[in-house]
Amino acid sequence: MLHTVPAFDRLGEENAFAVLARATALAHQGRDIINLGIGQPDFQTPPHIVEAAIKALRDGHHGYTPANGLLALREAVARRTLSTTGIEVSPESVMILPGGKPTMFAAILMFGEPGVEILYPDPGFPIYRSMIEFTGATPIPVPIREENGFAFSTEETLALITPKTRLLILNSPANPTGGVTPQDEIEKLVKGLEAHPQVAILSDEIYDVMTYDGEKHTSLLRFPEIRDRLVVLNGWSKTWAMTGWRMGWSIWPNGEKSADLYDKIRKLAVNCWSCVNAPTQFAGIAAIDGPQDEVEKMMHAFDRRRKVVVEGLNALPGISCIIPKGAFYAFPNIRETGWKAKKLASALLDDAGVALIGGPDFGTLGEGYMRLSYANSEENILRALERIERFLKR
Ligand code: PLP
Repeated sequence: MLHTVPAFDRLGEENAFAVLARATALAHQGRDIINLGIGQPDFQTPPHIVEAAIKALRDGHHGYTPANGLLALREAVARRTLSTTGIEVSPESVMILPGGKPTMFAAILMFGEPGVEILYPDPGFPIYRSMIEFTGATPIPVPIREENGFAFSTEETLALITPKTRLLILNSPANPTGGVTPQDEIEKLVKGLEAHPQVAILSDEIYDVMTYDGEKHTSLLRFPEIRDRLVVLNGWSKTWAMTGWRMGWSIWPNGEKSADLYDKIRKLAVNCWSCVNAPTQFAGIAAIDGPQDEVEKMMHAFDRRRKVVVEGLNALPGISCIIPKGAFYAFPNIRETGWKAKKLASALLDDAGVALIGGPDFGTLGEGYMRLSYANSEENILRALERIERFLKR
C-alpha cells in the first residue's frame, strides 16, 4: 500500500473539464452536443502569432530560456501593461509561466498553511478553493451577489478579514459570472486594505480587456499603496485565443518588504518547469506587439452573442439573467424553474444535448445558477436556447 501526503486528497477539480469529457464522449456516440460548458474562445489563434512560433522553431530556438522568461517577452508584457493600465512595471517584475493557473498555484502555495485564512470569491474560479485546501489553509468565501451585479462588495470583503488572513483573491472581470467590479468599489477596497498590511492580494485579471459597453476593468496595479503586496495574474489564453499554448504572465513585487516574492516564484520555476517552451514565448511577443484586429473581431462577436444569450435566456420559463459586463460567460438565475442547478445541467446534457456548468461547481453560493459560455457560434447558441426551452416546457 502506497501513502501520499494527505494534501493530495484535498485537491479539487475543475468540473468544466469533466463536462467537456462527457460531452465529447456523447458526441463520439453520435449525439449532437452543443457545448456551452468550456471556458475558451471558439476562435483560432490569429495566424501571425502561429507563424511567429513556427519561425522561432525554424530559427533554432529549441533550448531552455531564462526561468522567468525571455527578456524581450517580459519587455513586451511591460509595454502592454503600460498601454492597458497606464502603469509602468519593470520587466524584472514580470514572470512568464506555463498558463494563468500556475500563478494562482504558486501564490496560494506561498501564503497558505494550516491556521491561516485565505479569502476567495464564491462563486468563483474553482481552482482558488481547491488550492487553498491543498495548502491546509482555511478557505473563506467572499460572497459575490447577483443583486450587486456580481461585483465584489468592499464592505463584505473587509468584514471577513481577521488577523489570520494572509491572502485575498480578487477576480474582475469574473469567471463564472461575467461581473466587473466598478472602479469606485475597488478604490474603497484598496483604502480599506490599508488597515490590514499583513494581507497579500492576488488579482486575477486574465479577462482584463474583455469588457463591453458597461464598466471597464480597473487594474489593482493602479494603486501604488498596495504594490508591495500585490500579485497580478494575466495571460494569453483568453485575449488571443491561446488556451492550448499554455503560457501566462504575472507581475510580482520583490525585495525584503515584499518577502522576495519574485525571487520565490522564479526559484519555483527552476524547481518545477524550468521555463515555458521557447517557440510559445516568441508567439507571445507577436501576440502583444502585432495587429490586434483579430482580438477586436472576436470581442465584437462575443458582444453580439452576449446580447443574443441574455435575451434568449430571459425569454425562458423560470430563468432570468442580468447582462454580463465582461469575459464570455452568462450566469442565469434558474431558481424559478424548481431545478437544482447540477441536476438541471446533467439533464440538459443527457436529454437535450446542451453542455452547461451548474453554479455549485463554482462554490456554494452558485446554487440556483448555471454558467453558460457564449464562446460558441450564434447559430449554436440559438439552437441551444431552443433545446433548453423545449426541455423546460416538457
Ligand atoms: N483565471 C480565470 C478567472 C480563468 O477563468 C482561467 C481559465 O479559465 C484561468 C485563470 C486560467 O487560465 P489558463 O488557461 O491560462 O491557465
